[in-house]
Amino acid sequence: MIVLKFGGTSVGNAARVREAAGIALAQSAPRVVVVSAAGGVTNLLLDAGRAAAQGQPERVQAAVETIHDKHDEILDGVPNELERARASAVVEQLHAELDARLAAVARAGAFDAAASDAVVSTGERCLSTLMAATLRALGHDAVAVFANEVIATDDRHGHARPDLARTTTQAEQVVRPLLEAGQTVVMTGFIGGAPDGSITTLGRGGSDYSATILGAALQADEVQIWTDVPGVLTADPRQVTGARVVAEINYEEAQELAHFGAKVLHPRTIRPAVARDIPVRILSTFEPQAAGTTVTNRDTSKHVKAVTALRGLIVLTLGVPEMEDLARAAAVVFRRLHEHGVEILTVNQASSRRQMTFLVDAVTGGCSLLKARLAEELDALGADVECREHVAVLAAVGQGAAGQARTLARMLDVLARAGVPVLAANQQASNVALLAVVPEADAPRGVAAVHDAMVHRPHATTHRRRPRRTTLLAEPLRVG
Ligand code: ADP
Ligand code: ASP
Ligand code: MG
Repeated sequence: MIVLKFGGTSVGNAARVREAAGIALAQSAPRVVVVSAAGGVTNLLLDAGRAAAQGQPERVQAAVETIHDKHDEILDGVPNELERARASAVVEQLHAELDARLAAVARAGAFDAAASDAVVSTGERCLSTLMAATLRALGHDAVAVFANEVIATDDRHGHARPDLARTTTQAEQVVRPLLEAGQTVVMTGFIGGAPDGSITTLGRGGSDYSATILGAALQADEVQIWTDVPGVLTADPRQVTGARVVAEINYEEAQELAHFGAKVLHPRTIRPAVARDIPVRILSTFEPQAAGTTVTNRDTSKHVKAVTALRGLIVLTLGVPEMEDLARAAAVVFRRLHEHGVEILTVNQASSRRQMTFLVDAVTGGCSLLKARLAEELDALGADVECREHVAVLAAVGQGAAGQARTLARMLDVLARAGVPVLAANQQASNVALLAVVPEADAPRGVAAVHDAMVHRPHATTHRRRPRRTTLLAEPLRVG
Protein backbone atom coordinates (compact mmCIF):
# COMPACT_ATOMS: atom_id res chain seq x y z
CA MET A 1 0.00 0.00 0.00
CA ILE A 2 1.31 3.41 -0.99
CA VAL A 3 0.54 6.86 0.40
CA LEU A 4 1.04 9.70 -2.08
CA LYS A 5 0.96 13.30 -0.86
CA PHE A 6 0.52 16.25 -3.22
CA GLY A 7 1.50 19.76 -2.07
CA GLY A 8 -0.14 23.10 -2.86
CA THR A 9 1.61 23.80 -6.18
CA SER A 10 0.93 20.24 -7.34
CA VAL A 11 -2.84 20.77 -6.92
CA GLY A 12 -2.82 24.52 -7.68
CA ASN A 13 -5.14 24.47 -10.71
CA ALA A 14 -7.27 22.15 -12.84
CA ALA A 15 -4.43 21.02 -15.09
CA ARG A 16 -2.18 20.25 -12.12
CA VAL A 17 -4.95 18.33 -10.30
CA ARG A 18 -5.44 16.16 -13.40
CA GLU A 19 -1.67 15.57 -13.64
CA ALA A 20 -1.54 14.62 -9.96
CA ALA A 21 -4.49 12.25 -10.48
CA GLY A 22 -2.59 10.63 -13.37
CA ILE A 23 0.49 10.19 -11.16
CA ALA A 24 -1.62 8.57 -8.42
CA LEU A 25 -3.33 6.23 -10.88
CA ALA A 26 0.03 5.10 -12.26
CA GLN A 27 0.72 3.50 -8.84
CA SER A 28 -0.66 0.10 -8.07
CA ALA A 29 -3.62 -0.04 -5.68
CA PRO A 30 -4.29 0.07 -2.78
CA ARG A 31 -3.36 3.71 -2.48
CA VAL A 32 -4.14 6.66 -0.26
CA VAL A 33 -3.81 10.13 -1.76
CA VAL A 34 -3.19 13.00 0.69
CA VAL A 35 -3.81 16.52 -0.61
CA SER A 36 -2.95 19.99 0.62
CA ALA A 37 -5.08 23.01 -0.13
CA ALA A 38 -4.48 24.58 -3.56
CA GLY A 39 -1.40 26.84 -3.45
CA GLY A 40 -2.12 30.15 -1.71
CA VAL A 41 -5.52 29.12 -0.32
CA THR A 42 -4.38 28.55 3.28
CA ASN A 43 -2.86 32.04 3.41
CA LEU A 44 -6.04 33.54 1.91
CA LEU A 45 -8.19 31.74 4.48
CA LEU A 46 -6.01 33.03 7.32
CA ASP A 47 -6.21 36.53 5.89
CA ALA A 48 -9.99 36.29 5.62
CA GLY A 49 -10.20 35.21 9.28
CA ARG A 50 -7.96 38.05 10.50
CA ALA A 51 -9.85 40.59 8.39
CA ALA A 52 -13.17 39.32 9.79
CA ALA A 53 -11.88 39.75 13.35
CA GLN A 54 -10.64 43.25 12.55
CA GLY A 55 -14.00 44.28 11.10
CA GLN A 56 -12.82 44.63 7.47
CA PRO A 57 -15.60 43.02 5.40
CA GLU A 58 -14.17 44.18 2.02
CA ARG A 59 -10.90 42.38 2.72
CA VAL A 60 -12.84 39.25 3.78
CA GLN A 61 -14.87 39.44 0.59
CA ALA A 62 -11.77 39.82 -1.63
CA ALA A 63 -10.03 36.80 -0.07
CA VAL A 64 -13.17 34.64 -0.21
CA GLU A 65 -13.76 35.53 -3.88
CA THR A 66 -10.21 34.56 -4.83
CA ILE A 67 -10.68 31.23 -3.02
CA HIS A 68 -14.00 30.61 -4.84
CA ASP A 69 -12.33 31.42 -8.18
CA LYS A 70 -9.53 28.93 -7.56
CA HIS A 71 -11.92 26.15 -6.55
CA ASP A 72 -14.29 26.93 -9.43
CA GLU A 73 -11.46 26.70 -11.96
CA ILE A 74 -10.51 23.25 -10.62
CA LEU A 75 -14.17 22.23 -10.55
CA ASP A 76 -14.62 23.26 -14.21
CA GLY A 77 -11.73 20.95 -15.09
CA VAL A 78 -13.39 17.81 -13.64
CA PRO A 79 -13.82 15.85 -16.86
CA ASN A 80 -17.33 14.44 -16.29
CA GLU A 81 -20.60 16.32 -15.90
CA LEU A 82 -22.15 14.19 -13.18
CA GLU A 83 -18.97 14.19 -11.07
CA ARG A 84 -18.68 17.94 -11.60
CA ALA A 85 -22.22 18.51 -10.35
CA ARG A 86 -21.72 16.28 -7.30
CA ALA A 87 -18.44 17.91 -6.35
CA SER A 88 -19.93 21.35 -6.93
CA ALA A 89 -22.66 20.66 -4.37
CA VAL A 90 -20.10 19.64 -1.72
CA VAL A 91 -17.77 22.57 -2.46
CA GLU A 92 -20.70 25.00 -2.27
CA GLN A 93 -21.66 23.56 1.09
CA LEU A 94 -18.07 23.95 2.34
CA HIS A 95 -18.00 27.55 1.09
CA ALA A 96 -21.30 28.25 2.89
CA GLU A 97 -19.85 26.75 6.08
CA LEU A 98 -16.81 29.02 5.66
CA ASP A 99 -19.06 32.09 5.32
CA ALA A 100 -20.89 31.14 8.51
CA ARG A 101 -17.61 30.67 10.41
CA LEU A 102 -16.22 33.99 9.17
CA ALA A 103 -19.45 35.71 10.20
CA ALA A 104 -19.06 34.20 13.69
CA VAL A 105 -15.44 35.44 13.82
CA ALA A 106 -16.62 38.94 12.81
CA ARG A 107 -19.30 38.91 15.54
CA ALA A 108 -16.80 37.75 18.18
CA GLY A 109 -14.15 40.23 16.97
CA ALA A 110 -11.56 37.50 17.63
CA PHE A 111 -9.90 34.80 15.54
CA ASP A 112 -8.62 32.27 18.04
CA ALA A 113 -6.64 29.13 17.21
CA ALA A 114 -9.71 26.84 17.22
CA ALA A 115 -11.61 29.16 14.85
CA SER A 116 -8.51 29.45 12.67
CA ASP A 117 -8.21 25.65 12.35
CA ALA A 118 -11.88 25.34 11.37
CA VAL A 119 -11.53 28.11 8.78
CA VAL A 120 -8.28 26.87 7.19
CA SER A 121 -9.57 23.28 6.98
CA THR A 122 -11.84 24.50 4.15
CA GLY A 123 -8.85 24.48 1.77
CA GLU A 124 -7.96 20.81 2.26
CA ARG A 125 -11.61 19.68 2.47
CA CYS A 126 -12.42 21.31 -0.89
CA LEU A 127 -9.32 19.89 -2.54
CA SER A 128 -9.91 16.31 -1.38
CA THR A 129 -13.46 16.59 -2.74
CA LEU A 130 -12.18 17.91 -6.07
CA MET A 131 -9.40 15.33 -6.36
CA ALA A 132 -11.73 12.41 -5.60
CA ALA A 133 -14.18 13.74 -8.22
CA THR A 134 -11.35 14.00 -10.78
CA LEU A 135 -10.27 10.40 -10.12
CA ARG A 136 -13.88 9.18 -10.49
CA ALA A 137 -14.31 11.23 -13.64
CA LEU A 138 -11.25 9.41 -15.02
CA GLY A 139 -13.07 6.12 -14.38
CA HIS A 140 -11.61 5.02 -11.03
CA ASP A 141 -13.34 4.39 -7.72
CA ALA A 142 -12.32 7.10 -5.30
CA VAL A 143 -13.71 8.61 -2.14
CA ALA A 144 -12.83 11.78 -0.23
CA VAL A 145 -12.27 11.36 3.51
CA PHE A 146 -11.81 14.31 5.88
CA ALA A 147 -8.93 13.49 8.22
CA ASN A 148 -10.63 14.84 11.35
CA GLU A 149 -12.36 11.44 11.38
CA VAL A 150 -9.07 9.54 11.10
CA ILE A 151 -6.08 11.45 12.50
CA ALA A 152 -6.76 11.76 16.22
CA THR A 153 -4.88 14.61 17.88
CA ASP A 154 -4.76 16.49 21.16
CA ASP A 155 -6.43 19.90 21.44
CA ARG A 156 -3.41 22.14 20.74
CA HIS A 157 -5.06 24.07 17.94
CA GLY A 158 -2.63 25.31 15.33
CA HIS A 159 0.06 22.73 16.16
CA ALA A 160 -1.76 19.63 17.35
CA ARG A 161 0.06 16.40 18.22
CA PRO A 162 -1.26 13.14 16.80
CA ASP A 163 -2.18 10.15 18.92
CA LEU A 164 -0.84 7.25 16.86
CA ALA A 165 -2.70 4.52 18.72
CA ARG A 166 -6.13 6.16 18.31
CA THR A 167 -5.27 7.13 14.73
CA THR A 168 -4.39 3.52 13.90
CA THR A 169 -7.72 2.31 15.30
CA GLN A 170 -9.64 4.94 13.32
CA ALA A 171 -7.65 4.29 10.14
CA GLU A 172 -8.50 0.59 10.43
CA GLN A 173 -12.18 1.41 10.95
CA VAL A 174 -12.59 4.16 8.37
CA VAL A 175 -9.88 3.78 5.71
CA ARG A 176 -9.04 0.06 5.55
CA PRO A 177 -12.54 -1.12 4.50
CA LEU A 178 -12.58 1.49 1.71
CA LEU A 179 -9.19 0.31 0.43
CA GLU A 180 -10.31 -3.30 0.61
CA ALA A 181 -13.38 -2.37 -1.43
CA GLY A 182 -11.03 -1.12 -4.16
CA GLN A 183 -11.42 2.61 -3.52
CA THR A 184 -8.62 5.14 -3.78
CA VAL A 185 -8.96 7.12 -0.56
CA VAL A 186 -8.34 10.85 -0.98
CA MET A 187 -7.59 12.30 2.42
CA THR A 188 -7.18 15.89 3.53
CA GLY A 189 -3.65 16.69 4.65
CA PHE A 190 -2.89 19.14 7.48
CA ILE A 191 -5.98 18.52 9.63
CA GLY A 192 -6.92 16.24 12.49
CA GLY A 193 -9.65 15.87 15.07
CA ALA A 194 -9.39 16.88 18.75
CA PRO A 195 -10.97 14.78 21.53
CA ASP A 196 -13.89 17.29 21.70
CA GLY A 197 -14.64 16.71 18.00
CA SER A 198 -13.27 20.06 16.81
CA ILE A 199 -10.92 20.30 13.83
CA THR A 200 -7.20 20.78 14.56
CA THR A 201 -4.19 21.42 12.31
CA LEU A 202 -0.70 19.97 12.51
CA GLY A 203 1.20 23.23 11.88
CA ARG A 204 1.94 25.02 8.60
CA GLY A 205 3.15 22.64 5.92
CA GLY A 206 1.67 19.78 7.94
CA SER A 207 0.33 17.71 5.05
CA ASP A 208 3.71 15.96 4.75
CA TYR A 209 3.26 14.89 8.37
CA SER A 210 -0.31 13.70 7.65
CA ALA A 211 1.11 11.43 4.94
CA THR A 212 3.60 9.68 7.21
CA ILE A 213 1.10 9.48 10.09
CA LEU A 214 -1.30 7.65 7.77
CA GLY A 215 1.54 5.60 6.31
CA ALA A 216 2.48 4.44 9.81
CA ALA A 217 -1.14 3.83 10.87
CA LEU A 218 -1.85 1.73 7.77
CA GLN A 219 1.61 0.06 7.61
CA ALA A 220 2.26 1.47 4.12
CA ASP A 221 5.07 0.07 1.97
CA GLU A 222 6.11 3.58 0.94
CA VAL A 223 5.18 7.24 1.44
CA GLN A 224 5.71 9.50 -1.58
CA ILE A 225 5.85 13.28 -1.12
CA TRP A 226 5.07 14.84 -4.52
CA THR A 227 6.16 18.48 -4.67
CA ASP A 228 7.52 21.24 -6.90
CA VAL A 229 11.24 20.33 -6.65
CA PRO A 230 12.84 17.10 -7.91
CA GLY A 231 13.69 15.84 -4.40
CA VAL A 232 15.65 16.98 -1.38
CA LEU A 233 18.30 19.29 -2.81
CA THR A 234 21.76 20.15 -1.50
CA ALA A 235 20.31 23.57 -0.52
CA ASP A 236 17.12 25.57 -0.98
CA PRO A 237 17.08 26.25 -4.75
CA ARG A 238 15.59 29.67 -4.02
CA GLN A 239 18.78 30.59 -2.18
CA VAL A 240 21.50 28.62 -3.95
CA THR A 241 21.38 28.37 -7.73
CA GLY A 242 23.76 25.40 -7.93
CA ALA A 243 21.64 23.17 -5.64
CA ARG A 244 21.44 19.54 -6.83
CA VAL A 245 19.27 16.54 -5.99
CA VAL A 246 20.47 14.27 -3.17
CA ALA A 247 19.63 10.74 -4.33
CA GLU A 248 19.69 9.04 -0.92
CA ILE A 249 19.52 10.35 2.57
CA ASN A 250 18.83 8.65 5.85
CA TYR A 251 16.04 9.36 8.33
CA GLU A 252 18.23 11.28 10.76
CA GLU A 253 19.70 13.47 8.05
CA ALA A 254 16.27 14.24 6.59
CA GLN A 255 14.92 14.97 10.06
CA GLU A 256 17.80 17.34 10.80
CA LEU A 257 17.37 19.15 7.47
CA ALA A 258 13.64 19.60 8.05
CA HIS A 259 14.23 20.66 11.65
CA PHE A 260 16.71 23.34 10.57
CA GLY A 261 14.55 25.00 7.95
CA ALA A 262 14.46 22.93 4.71
CA LYS A 263 10.81 23.60 3.89
CA VAL A 264 10.59 20.62 1.54
CA LEU A 265 9.60 18.48 4.55
CA HIS A 266 7.53 19.50 7.58
CA PRO A 267 9.86 19.12 10.62
CA ARG A 268 7.88 16.23 12.12
CA THR A 269 7.38 14.26 8.89
CA ILE A 270 10.08 11.67 9.38
CA ARG A 271 9.29 10.42 12.90
CA PRO A 272 6.27 8.21 12.08
CA ALA A 273 8.18 6.68 9.15
CA VAL A 274 11.19 5.82 11.34
CA ALA A 275 8.98 4.08 13.89
CA ARG A 276 7.68 1.65 11.23
CA ASP A 277 10.75 1.78 8.95
CA ILE A 278 8.74 3.03 5.97
CA PRO A 279 10.75 4.47 3.05
CA VAL A 280 9.84 8.06 2.16
CA ARG A 281 10.44 9.37 -1.37
CA ILE A 282 10.40 13.01 -2.42
CA LEU A 283 9.38 13.42 -6.06
CA SER A 284 8.47 16.20 -8.47
CA THR A 285 5.08 16.51 -10.16
CA PHE A 286 6.89 18.54 -12.86
CA GLU A 287 9.27 15.63 -13.60
CA PRO A 288 7.33 12.51 -12.60
CA GLN A 289 9.88 10.14 -14.19
CA ALA A 290 12.86 11.51 -12.22
CA ALA A 291 14.19 9.30 -9.40
CA GLY A 292 13.89 11.96 -6.67
CA THR A 293 15.24 11.40 -3.17
CA THR A 294 14.81 8.24 -1.13
CA VAL A 295 14.84 8.50 2.66
CA THR A 296 15.55 5.23 4.45
CA ASN A 297 17.38 3.93 7.50
CA ARG A 298 20.47 3.13 5.39
CA ASP A 299 23.70 4.87 6.27
CA THR A 300 24.46 6.31 2.89
CA SER A 301 27.78 8.16 2.90
CA LYS A 302 30.30 10.10 4.93
CA HIS A 303 29.89 13.40 3.12
CA VAL A 304 28.12 16.68 3.87
CA LYS A 305 24.99 16.27 1.79
CA ALA A 306 23.07 19.49 2.20
CA VAL A 307 23.13 22.90 3.85
CA THR A 308 20.17 24.73 5.30
CA ALA A 309 19.42 27.70 7.55
CA LEU A 310 16.63 28.43 9.98
CA ARG A 311 16.05 32.12 10.51
CA GLY A 312 14.19 34.24 13.04
CA LEU A 313 15.77 32.74 16.17
CA ILE A 314 16.97 34.12 19.51
CA VAL A 315 20.15 33.28 21.45
CA LEU A 316 20.04 33.49 25.23
CA THR A 317 23.33 33.40 27.11
CA LEU A 318 23.04 32.55 30.78
CA GLY A 319 25.91 33.48 33.10
CA VAL A 320 26.35 32.52 36.77
CA PRO A 321 28.92 33.66 39.36
CA GLU A 322 30.02 30.15 40.42
CA MET A 323 29.83 26.86 38.57
CA GLU A 324 27.70 25.28 41.33
CA ASP A 325 24.95 27.80 40.44
CA LEU A 326 24.62 26.77 36.81
CA ALA A 327 22.23 23.82 37.15
CA ARG A 328 19.77 25.82 39.28
CA ALA A 329 19.84 28.83 36.97
CA ALA A 330 19.52 26.58 33.89
CA ALA A 331 16.53 24.86 35.52
CA VAL A 332 14.85 28.27 35.82
CA VAL A 333 15.47 29.01 32.13
CA PHE A 334 14.17 25.59 31.00
CA ARG A 335 11.05 25.88 33.19
CA ARG A 336 10.21 29.43 32.16
CA LEU A 337 10.72 28.69 28.46
CA HIS A 338 8.53 25.62 28.79
CA GLU A 339 5.80 27.61 30.58
CA HIS A 340 5.75 30.09 27.71
CA GLY A 341 5.76 27.38 25.03
CA VAL A 342 9.11 28.54 23.61
CA GLU A 343 10.82 25.77 21.65
CA ILE A 344 14.51 25.19 22.40
CA LEU A 345 16.61 24.19 19.39
CA THR A 346 20.02 23.66 20.97
CA VAL A 347 21.74 24.11 24.32
CA ASN A 348 25.50 24.47 24.87
CA GLN A 349 27.46 24.58 28.08
CA ALA A 350 30.77 26.40 28.24
CA SER A 351 33.66 24.37 29.61
CA SER A 352 34.03 26.88 32.48
CA ARG A 353 30.59 25.64 33.60
CA ARG A 354 29.63 29.24 34.31
CA GLN A 355 27.86 29.86 31.05
CA MET A 356 25.19 28.23 28.93
CA THR A 357 23.69 29.26 25.58
CA PHE A 358 20.14 28.44 24.51
CA LEU A 359 19.09 28.79 20.89
CA VAL A 360 15.32 29.28 20.92
CA ASP A 361 12.44 30.07 18.60
CA ALA A 362 11.45 33.69 18.22
CA VAL A 363 8.54 34.76 20.45
CA THR A 364 6.19 37.70 20.16
CA GLY A 365 7.73 40.32 22.42
CA GLY A 366 11.26 39.08 21.62
CA CYS A 367 14.19 39.60 23.99
CA SER A 368 12.53 42.20 26.18
CA LEU A 369 9.70 39.80 27.01
CA LEU A 370 12.02 36.83 27.60
CA LYS A 371 14.36 38.85 29.81
CA ALA A 372 11.45 40.24 31.83
CA ARG A 373 10.08 36.72 32.38
CA LEU A 374 13.44 35.39 33.55
CA ALA A 375 14.72 38.40 35.51
CA GLU A 376 13.06 37.95 38.91
CA GLU A 377 14.17 34.37 39.58
CA LEU A 378 17.61 34.74 37.97
CA ASP A 379 18.34 37.96 39.89
CA ALA A 380 17.70 36.07 43.12
CA LEU A 381 20.39 33.54 42.06
CA GLY A 382 22.85 36.28 41.07
CA ALA A 383 22.65 35.04 37.47
CA ASP A 384 22.25 37.19 34.41
CA VAL A 385 21.05 36.56 30.93
CA GLU A 386 21.99 38.20 27.63
CA CYS A 387 19.67 38.00 24.71
CA ARG A 388 20.20 38.53 20.97
CA GLU A 389 17.44 38.56 18.33
CA HIS A 390 17.48 38.07 14.55
CA VAL A 391 19.89 35.17 14.46
CA ALA A 392 19.87 32.10 12.25
CA VAL A 393 21.30 28.65 12.62
CA LEU A 394 23.14 27.25 9.66
CA ALA A 395 23.27 23.45 9.47
CA ALA A 396 25.58 21.35 7.31
CA VAL A 397 23.98 17.91 7.32
CA GLY A 398 25.65 14.58 6.63
CA GLN A 399 26.00 11.61 8.93
CA GLY A 400 29.62 10.68 9.41
CA ALA A 401 30.98 13.93 8.01
CA ALA A 402 29.59 15.82 10.97
CA GLY A 403 31.37 13.43 13.34
CA GLN A 404 34.83 14.39 12.09
CA ALA A 405 36.42 17.18 14.12
CA ARG A 406 38.08 18.71 11.08
CA THR A 407 34.74 19.21 9.32
CA LEU A 408 33.63 21.78 11.89
CA ALA A 409 37.01 23.54 11.62
CA ARG A 410 36.56 23.58 7.85
CA MET A 411 33.07 25.05 8.09
CA LEU A 412 34.22 27.80 10.47
CA ASP A 413 37.10 28.58 8.12
CA VAL A 414 34.72 28.80 5.13
CA LEU A 415 32.43 31.15 7.06
CA ALA A 416 35.34 33.32 8.21
CA ARG A 417 36.60 33.63 4.61
CA ALA A 418 33.09 34.63 3.51
CA GLY A 419 33.06 37.31 6.23
CA VAL A 420 30.17 35.68 8.13
CA PRO A 421 30.53 36.18 11.92
CA VAL A 422 29.87 33.02 13.94
CA LEU A 423 28.12 33.65 17.26
CA ALA A 424 28.25 30.01 18.40
CA ALA A 425 29.11 26.68 16.85
CA ASN A 426 28.28 23.13 17.73
CA GLN A 427 29.16 19.63 16.60
CA GLN A 428 26.05 17.71 17.48
CA ALA A 429 26.22 14.61 19.59
CA SER A 430 24.14 12.84 16.96
CA ASN A 431 26.96 13.37 14.43
CA VAL A 432 24.37 14.27 11.84
CA ALA A 433 24.75 18.05 11.58
CA LEU A 434 27.31 20.77 12.13
CA LEU A 435 25.68 23.93 13.40
CA ALA A 436 26.78 27.55 13.32
CA VAL A 437 24.72 30.39 14.77
CA VAL A 438 25.09 33.50 12.62
CA PRO A 439 23.36 36.88 12.30
CA GLU A 440 20.18 36.39 10.28
CA ALA A 441 21.22 38.87 7.58
CA ASP A 442 24.40 36.86 6.89
CA ALA A 443 22.67 33.47 6.66
CA PRO A 444 22.10 33.39 2.85
CA ARG A 445 25.76 34.24 2.20
CA GLY A 446 26.86 31.64 4.76
CA VAL A 447 24.69 28.92 3.21
CA ALA A 448 26.02 29.69 -0.28
CA ALA A 449 29.64 29.66 0.90
CA VAL A 450 29.34 26.40 2.87
CA HIS A 451 27.40 24.81 -0.01
CA ASP A 452 30.06 25.71 -2.55
CA ALA A 453 32.98 24.63 -0.40
CA MET A 454 31.71 21.57 1.44
CA VAL A 455 28.76 19.82 -0.16
CA HIS A 456 29.87 16.66 -1.84
CA ARG A 457 29.93 16.63 -5.63
CA PRO A 458 29.76 13.00 -6.67
CA HIS A 459 31.08 13.63 -10.18
CA ALA A 460 33.96 15.86 -9.16
CA THR A 461 35.45 13.49 -6.56
CA THR A 462 34.75 10.13 -8.16
CA HIS A 463 36.49 11.40 -11.26
CA ARG A 464 39.77 9.49 -11.18
CA ARG A 465 41.48 11.31 -13.98
CA ARG A 466 42.66 14.87 -13.60
CA PRO A 467 39.74 17.09 -14.49
CA ARG A 468 40.07 18.53 -17.94
CA ARG A 469 40.70 22.23 -18.31
CA THR A 470 37.25 22.71 -19.85
CA THR A 471 35.63 21.10 -16.78
CA LEU A 472 37.55 23.40 -14.48
CA LEU A 473 36.51 26.41 -16.50
CA ALA A 474 32.89 25.29 -16.47
CA GLU A 475 32.82 24.84 -12.70
CA PRO A 476 32.17 28.46 -11.58
CA LEU A 477 29.41 28.71 -14.16
CA ARG A 478 27.67 25.63 -12.80
CA VAL A 479 27.86 26.92 -9.24
CA GLY A 480 26.98 30.53 -9.92
P1 ADP B 1 4.58 21.66 -1.07
O1 ADP B 1 3.55 22.72 -1.29
O2 ADP B 1 4.66 20.65 -2.17
O3 ADP B 1 4.49 21.04 0.29
P2 ADP B 1 6.72 23.37 -0.13
O4 ADP B 1 6.75 24.74 -0.71
O5 ADP B 1 6.17 23.21 1.24
O6 ADP B 1 5.98 22.41 -1.17
O7 ADP B 1 8.20 22.74 -0.13
C1 ADP B 1 8.94 22.72 -1.33
C2 ADP B 1 9.90 23.91 -1.34
O8 ADP B 1 10.89 23.70 -0.32
C3 ADP B 1 10.73 24.05 -2.61
O9 ADP B 1 10.03 24.77 -3.60
C4 ADP B 1 11.98 24.77 -2.10
O10 ADP B 1 11.92 26.16 -2.34
C5 ADP B 1 11.96 24.58 -0.59
N1 ADP B 1 13.21 24.00 -0.08
C6 ADP B 1 13.92 24.50 0.95
N2 ADP B 1 15.02 23.76 1.17
C7 ADP B 1 15.00 22.75 0.27
C8 ADP B 1 15.88 21.66 0.01
N3 ADP B 1 16.99 21.43 0.71
N4 ADP B 1 15.54 20.80 -0.99
C9 ADP B 1 14.42 21.01 -1.70
N5 ADP B 1 13.57 22.03 -1.52
C10 ADP B 1 13.85 22.91 -0.53
N1 ASP C 1 -2.12 23.91 3.32
C1 ASP C 1 -1.33 23.86 4.52
C2 ASP C 1 -0.35 25.02 4.57
O1 ASP C 1 -0.31 25.82 3.65
C3 ASP C 1 -0.65 22.54 4.73
C4 ASP C 1 0.41 22.15 3.71
O2 ASP C 1 0.56 22.83 2.70
O3 ASP C 1 1.08 21.14 3.93
O4 ASP C 1 0.34 25.16 5.54
MG1 MG D 1 5.07 21.75 2.20
